[in-house]
Amino acid sequence: MFCFLYKNPAFVPYFCRPNHQHVSESHLAEGLTERALAKKSQNQKLVARLRKLKPQKLEQQFHQLHEEVFQHTDCLQCANCCKTTSPVFTESDINRISRSFKMKPDEFIETYLYMDHEEDYVLQEAPCHFLLEDNKCLIYDVRPKACRDYPHTNRKGIRKRLSLSLKNTEVCPAVYEIFERLQKEL
Ligand code: SF4
Ligand code: SF4
Repeated sequence: MFCFLYKNPAFVPYFCRPNHQHVSESHLAEGLTERALAKKSQNQKLVARLRKLKPQKLEQQFHQLHEEVFQHTDCLQCANCCKTTSPVFTESDINRISRSFKMKPDEFIETYLYMDHEEDYVLQEAPCHFLLEDNKCLIYDVRPKACRDYPHTNRKGIRKRLSLSLKNTEVCPAVYEIFERLQKEL
């Protein structure tokens, strides 16, 4: 099954290889997990309220907040998703990316991915092997669909991803801020 979602840290074992480089926490995401966990029960109640909204209104609210928050959120100053989680690599992602490296898909899988317990291909290690020092993505033009879509707050079908969005408050400072704003508005 294609999931198109990032796997969050609870689901992804953190692999450390001998040459694994330490990547420091970005200032945007500093203390984010602790702050998000402190707000978790408040945000769970918020999610329960959000589930009662009409899907169209819920979507409008999320999409508008996504636009506002990402106007001042610079992903290049953050990259916390690339540092701490793994996208799911679909078959078409694997074919496209391996082609760009002139590798066979099997070779690409063996080098960079493994199949997790949900039978999704995910990265062998975090931070992502393709994350560069300046937080740019080495494979930006061919990156997985899950990377393009993350954090999913401007996509359709918000309602069915509310639990995932809540989990993403621990990973993505923009999602954390969207929830903060929703707390004030609702
Ligand atoms: S999507 Fe979120 S976690 Fe990823 S780089 Fe942008 S602000 Fe950071
Ligand atoms: S492929 Fe690129 S965008 Fe996706 S996690 Fe890796 S560095 Fe980030």
